[in-house]
Amino acid sequence: MGTLTIEQLRERVRGSVITAGDGDYDEARRVYNAMIDRRPQVVVRCANAGDVMAAVDFARENSLDLAVRGGSHSVPGFGVCDGVVADLSPMRGVRVDPTNRTARAEGGATWGDFNAATYAFGLATTGGIISTTGVGGLTLGGGIGYLDRGLGLSCDNLISADVVTADGRLLHASDQENQDLFWALRGGSGNFGVVTSFKFRLSPVKDIFGGPMFFELDRAGDILRFYRDFIADAPEQLGLFPAFQIAPPLPFIPEDRHGEPFIALVSCWAGPLDEGPSVLRPIRDVAPTVAEMVGPMPYPALNSAFDGLVPPGLQHYWKANFNTELTDAAIEAHLEHGPRVPVVNSTVHIYPINGACHRVAQDATAFSYRDASFATVIAGMWPDPSQNEANTEWVRGYYQATAPHSEEGGYINFMAADDQDRIATNYRGNYERLVDIKRKYDPGNLFHVNQNIKP
Ligand SMILES: Cc1cc2nc3c(=O)[nH]c(=O)nc-3n(C[C@H](O)[C@H](O)[C@H](O)COP(=O)(O)OP(=O)(O)OC[C@H]3O[C@@H](n4cnc5c(N)ncnc54)[C@H](O)[C@@H]3O)c2cc1C
Repeated sequence: MGTLTIEQLRERVRGSVITAGDGDYDEARRVYNAMIDRRPQVVVRCANAGDVMAAVDFARENSLDLAVRGGSHSVPGFGVCDGVVADLSPMRGVRVDPTNRTARAEGGATWGDFNAATYAFGLATTGGIISTTGVGGLTLGGGIGYLDRGLGLSCDNLISADVVTADGRLLHASDQENQDLFWALRGGSGNFGVVTSFKFRLSPVKDIFGGPMFFELDRAGDILRFYRDFIADAPEQLGLFPAFQIAPPLPFIPEDRHGEPFIALVSCWAGPLDEGPSVLRPIRDVAPTVAEMVGPMPYPALNSAFDGLVPPGLQHYWKANFNTELTDAAIEAHLEHGPRVPVVNSTVHIYPINGACHRVAQDATAFSYRDASFATVIAGMWPDPSQNEANTEWVRGYYQATAPHSEEGGYINFMAADDQDRIATNYRGNYERLVDIKRKYDPGNLFHVNQNIKP
C-alpha cells in the first residue's frame, strides 16, 4: 500500500478536508491567540474517530508535522502547525449518564458544552474558569478550576479515554486497560495521542453562591495575606482566587471607576446555597468592596461570566509557576507588579490547588505538583499587536520578580512557547516514566506540537 494521498484522505474523511485555496482556509487555520500565524498544508475537520485516524495516518505516512486542536486555547498555538491539523472542533457532543453520574465528552467539546449538558442533571466536574476553553487540552494538562479543591483536578475525575495513537489505532485507556497510557494522559498533555472521547466522574453541583468582588488596590496586601491563610483550611466546596484586574465597563461597577486597576476575589461556593453568605463572611471582615456581583447563580453562569473579557483574536503571552507557599516576599513581588496590569483583558490569577488535589499521590498521575497549594498565572492578553513589546515586558518582569519565590515548575497548560526547557522540571519525578511511555506509544514523536516530552 502506498502513502496516503490528499485525494484518498478526502475520500476517507466524513468531515471536511481544507487546503490553501479553499474559501474557508483562513478561518480553518486561525487559532485563539492572534499572534500565531501558521499555514497548514491541510486541516482535517474531524467528524468522528475515523477521521482522526485518517488525519494521523496522513501526517505519519507523509512525514508531516501534526497539530491537534480541541478548544483552540493553547497560548503557544499548539492547535495549528504548517503540516496537518486534526481539528476536533466539530466533535463537541456530551452525553450524560445521570444514574451512574458520568459524562462522555467528545474530544473537541468546550467546558461550555460540557457544563450545559451536566447542569440539566444538577451535576458537574472540575473544568476551567472560561467556558470557551476546550475540555481536551485542559484535562490532558491537569485541569484547574473553581471546583478543584473539593473534586480534584479535571484529570482526577477522568475515568477513561478513547485515544488514537501515533500508529493510527484507537485504544481504550483506563485503570483496567492500557493503564500506562491512562496514567500519562492525566497531566502529560497532548503527547500520547488524540483523545476522541473522555469519560468523567460527575458530582452534585447545580447552583453556586459566588462571583467577583473588587477591592481598592491599597488593600491588596491585606487581601493576598488573608487569602493565603484562609484558603489553607477553608471548606473544600469553596473555590476562591485573587486577581489583579482592570475594572471592565460593567453595570455593577461604578462608572467613574471603569478602567482602574483593582484587586479582586472571585468565589464559587458549591455547598448548600444558604450557607454561601456565611462562608464568604470572613472576606467581608478584611476590606470593604468597591463593587461586587456576588449571589446565587447557575454554575455554568459563573463559568461563562468572564468570557467577554477574553474573546478570540487577542494577542497572548503567559507565564506560570506553582507555589507550595505564598510567602510574604512572593506577596511583595505581586504588590509591585500586579497593580501595573496594562489592559482590561490581562490578569494575574493565583489559583488554589489544595484540598482534594493534595490527596492524590505525586506519582498516581502524570501531574506531579501535588504538594503545591497555588498555581499562579500571569496572563498577558491584549488586542493591539503594536503593543506586543510593552505587554510581553510586563509579563516577563512580573515573572522574573515572582519566580525566585516560587517552585521551579509551573502548570504545563499556562506555559509559553519559550518554556520548553522547563518541561522536565514541570513533571519532576514523573518525567522519566513519561519518557518511557512516550517511547512505547509514540517512538517517532509524531505528537510533538505541544509542550513536548521527547521519546
Ligand atoms: C482564556 C483562557 C482561559 C483558561 N483557563 C484555564 C483554567 O481555568 N484552567 C486550566 O487548567 N487551564 C486554563 N487555560 C489553559 C488551557 O488549559 C490550555 O490553554 C489548554 O491547552 C486549552 O485546551 P484547548 O483544547 O482549548 O486548546 P487547543 O489549542 O485546542 O489544544 C491545546 C493542546 O492540547 C492538545 N489537545 C487538545 N485537545 C486534544 C484532544 N482531544 N486529544 C489530544 N490532545 C488534545 C493539543 O494537542 C494541544 O497540544 C486557559 C486558557 C485560556 C486561553
